[in-house]
Amino acid sequence: QTRDMNTDLLIIGAGPGGYVAAIYAAKKGLQVTIIEKEELGGTCLNVGCIPTKALVKSSEICHSVKNSSLFGIKAGNELQVDMKQIIRRKDEVKEKLVSGVGFLMEKNKVQVVHGHASFLSAKTVNVTGKNNYHISAKNIIVATGSKISKVNIPGIELPFVMNSTEALSCEELPKSITIIGGGVIGMEFAFIYRNLGVEVHVVEFMDRLLTMLDSDISEEIKHMAQQAGIHIHTNSKVSKIQRADDDEAIVTYEDSKGEHLLVSEKVLVAIGREPNLDGLDIEKAGIQLNDKGKGIAVDKQMRTNLKHVYAIGDVTNIIQLAHVASHQGITAVDALLGETNSMHYSAVPNVIFTSPEIASVGLSEDECKQRGMDYSVSKVSFESNGKALTMNEPEGFIKLIKDNNSGKIVGGSIIGPDASSLISSLTLAIANELTEQQITQTIFAHPTTGEVIHEAAFGLGIGALHQA
Ligand code: FAD
Repeated sequence: QTRDMNTDLLIIGAGPGGYVAAIYAAKKGLQVTIIEKEELGGTCLNVGCIPTKALVKSSEICHSVKNSSLFGIKAGNELQVDMKQIIRRKDEVKEKLVSGVGFLMEKNKVQVVHGHASFLSAKTVNVTGKNNYHISAKNIIVATGSKISKVNIPGIELPFVMNSTEALSCEELPKSITIIGGGVIGMEFAFIYRNLGVEVHVVEFMDRLLTMLDSDISEEIKHMAQQAGIHIHTNSKVSKIQRADDDEAIVTYEDSKGEHLLVSEKVLVAIGREPNLDGLDIEKAGIQLNDKGKGIAVDKQMRTNLKHVYAIGDVTNIIQLAHVASHQGITAVDALLGETNSMHYSAVPNVIFTSPEIASVGLSEDECKQRGMDYSVSKVSFESNGKALTMNEPEGFIKLIKDNNSGKIVGGSIIGPDASSLISSLTLAIANELTEQQITQTIFAHPTTGEVIHEAAFGLGIGALHQA
């Protein structure tokens, strides 16, 4: 039996795009229904941002314990990694957050419908689940996220080959792992495993890791990865995966010198994600895809080609980040309420949770070059930062970019301790178009890693004060 329902706003998908849009719309007085086929919180809370960071924390603790004697703390001789407990703790964190989202839905009177949604027409959606519904809505937001891309490598189906979702639930710590893909997910896992004592190889097709970063930053993380004992193979194309007689994995890759073999216990494929439109039947509503045919086409207010249908988050294939999905959700709700604000992507922070962390916002130096801009760069190392030295983390640097015509800060990257937190101040500076002088005239607390921002701003003018 199928029940009919009506709502002001129907949201499909309860990831950070959908659930934030639901709360925001409810607070603005709309009657909201959200459909989710799996767990509230989407990729981010269940198999993405949060679980990976829980593992990052465990791996960092392992690294700290190994190096504790330097700080005058002796922690016995035998260090043991209990992978089952690491995964259990990760699950507890995730469950706490997922139930928190459920609580917020309830408190904000958002109706949650569990089931798979597909369009019947431009205004009506079919839901199949424990109960079946036809839901008609004045406005609809599609927030169905992304899925792991299919990869055509022979042997990918072998039992020791994992994707990121499977790795997050793997309760056995392998002795060795080959990671295919040196992008964000691949490199976060590379450091997680390495810090837990695993032998790690990363095979990357491009000529450098983390290609969205400036080459000096990606060179620095390559250097740090190698120092940590991670084997990096760039310019390398994986051609097949095979099973050895002793059940180990053999990954074959080719580079300019020929064919090479890597033997490891597990293989992690971290090659990419793509918009998830599975079984959504958008053609029945007449919703159009973007030029590349991947992702739903939207305008700056996240409106699709249909006036009352919006799409947000990974399904639009604009930027695959949780905070972008949430912001797009708020923008879509504002748009359907008649507000005129729209999405701008000039100050989107991007964090990579390697050891050390990397964070960037605004324009990269490569982009400034491509645009033919007149710009200046200031680079300040963490070596001259007192707090970083107390933490024994003097490696890395901040790079600040100024537009010489306007004097405004247009971009910044940080590789080093606390980069994930420091990037918020830089984001505020860039989003509010602050100049180098407005930063130098601001008082920064001492001793903090944040002082590198102050120093780098001086570096754009008279020169960094604590650097020769
Ligand atoms: P999703 O979070 O994917 O949510 C979509 C939801 O829609 C899902 O719950 C899905 O079940 C549901 N759904 C899909 N189709 C239907 C349907 N037909 N009917 C009903 N429900 C449906 N981003 C960061 O910003 N920081 C990070 O540190 C970070 N780390 C990551 C680590 C990993 C390993 C991965 C995989 C991703 C990471 N991301 C990170 C990316 C981030 O998870 C995504 O950008 C974000 O989750 C996108 O949000 P969304 O709401 O668009 O979609």
